[in-house]
Amino acid sequence: MIIHPAICMERTEDNDFLVCNLESNETYKIGLAEGLFLNNYNPNNKERNVIDWDNDRIKQAETFFLEAGLLVDESLPLVTRKQKERFNITRIKICKFEINNALNKVQRIVMFLTSKICITFYFAIILIGIILAFTNKGFLFNKLNNLITSGQIHEFNIDPSSFILVYILVIIAMFIHEFGHIFMCKRICGKVGKVGIMLYFLQPALFSDLTCLYTINNKKEKIKALFSGIFIQWFLSAIAIINYILLNKTFNIDLEFLLIFSLINIFISFYNLIPFTKLDGYWIVSFILNKQNLYQKSLSFIFSKLKIVSKPNVAKEKKSILLAYGIAAIIFYILFWGFSLTQIYGLLELVVASPIAMGLVTIIIFIIIYQLFCRVKFNKY
Ligand SMILES: [Zn+2]
Repeated sequence: MIIHPAICMERTEDNDFLVCNLESNETYKIGLAEGLFLNNYNPNNKERNVIDWDNDRIKQAETFFLEAGLLVDESLPLVTRKQKERFNITRIKICKFEINNALNKVQRIVMFLTSKICITFYFAIILIGIILAFTNKGFLFNKLNNLITSGQIHEFNIDPSSFILVYILVIIAMFIHEFGHIFMCKRICGKVGKVGIMLYFLQPALFSDLTCLYTINNKKEKIKALFSGIFIQWFLSAIAIINYILLNKTFNIDLEFLLIFSLINIFISFYNLIPFTKLDGYWIVSFILNKQNLYQKSLSFIFSKLKIVSKPNVAKEKKSILLAYGIAAIIFYILFWGFSLTQIYGLLELVVASPIAMGLVTIIIFIIIYQLFCRVKFNKY
C-alpha cells in the first residue's frame, strides 16, 4: 500500500498535518500520529516513523485511509485508484470557483472591509439597530401582529413585490455572509479555497472552503473568520430595521419588506449557529472546544454501541459528550431532512399531481436511507 500520488502533506503550526488532495483540491487536517502513520506509506520517505499502535489499530487505520482515498493499493491499475468525489445527497456540490487570484487584485478593499475601524462600525450599527428596535418594541410588535393576523407571514401571501424584494435581499445576504467568511479568511491566512453553490439537505446554499484556517494557531482569529458570516448578517438586519423604523417615524413610509427581511435574515443567522450539523455553529464549537471531527466521532461511538459498526476510534474523548452530541446530531439530521422533504413535497405538489409528488419524495427517502446505510457501513459521516 502506498500514499495516493495526488496527496501532499504539510506539518501545521500546532504540530498536526494538513493533507491536500491535488486532484480534488480538498484540504483537511489530521492528527500528528495519523500524519506520521501516513508518511510511512510515502515511497519517497526513507525514514520510518515509530508509532505506538497495536496491529488492530494499524489495520483499522489502513482500511480507513484506503476508503478515504489517502492510501492506494499499488497492485491495482491506476484507473481504479483514481479518487472520485463521493456523491452525498445531504451535501451536493453543484459548482465551485477559484476566487483567490481575484481577491489578490482587490486586496486593499478586503483589508479595509475587515479592518478594526470597519468592524467597530458594523458593531455600532448592530448596537444602534438593537437599541432602536428595543425602544420601538411596541410599534414593531404591532406591525408584526398585523402581518401575522392578516395571514401575511404564516400563509406567506404578502404582496408579490414585497415577496420578490425580500427574496432578493435574502439571496444577497447569503452572498454577503459567504464573503464575510472569505474576506476574513483572506485577511488571516493570506489565501482562501474555492467558493461554490451546493444543495445542503437539498436546499440551495453557498459554501466556501476555509480549510486554510486549520494551518494557523490563533484560535481567536479562526473563530473570527467562522463567525464573520453571521456577524455580517446581523449588520444587514440592523440596517434594514433602522431604515424601517426611521422611514416609518419620519416620513410615514411603511416598507414592510424591510421588517420581514430583517426577521428572516436573523432567523437564518441563528439557524446557522446550530452546532449539531455541519453549519457555522459546528465549526465554531469545534474550534472553541478544540475538538476535531466531533460529529464523526459521536456517530461512530453511537453506532458502535448499537453494534452496527466495530469499535470506534474515540479513545481520548469523553463518552458522555459523544453520546449527548451524537443523539442531538441524529435528531437534527432527521429534523433537517423532515423540514426539507416537506418543502420539496410542497413545491412538487404545485407542478405535479399529489401521488407523483409523494412517489418522488419516497424515492428521495430511499436514496437517503441507502446512503446512510453505506456511510454507516464504511464509518464515514
Ligand atoms: Zn457561514
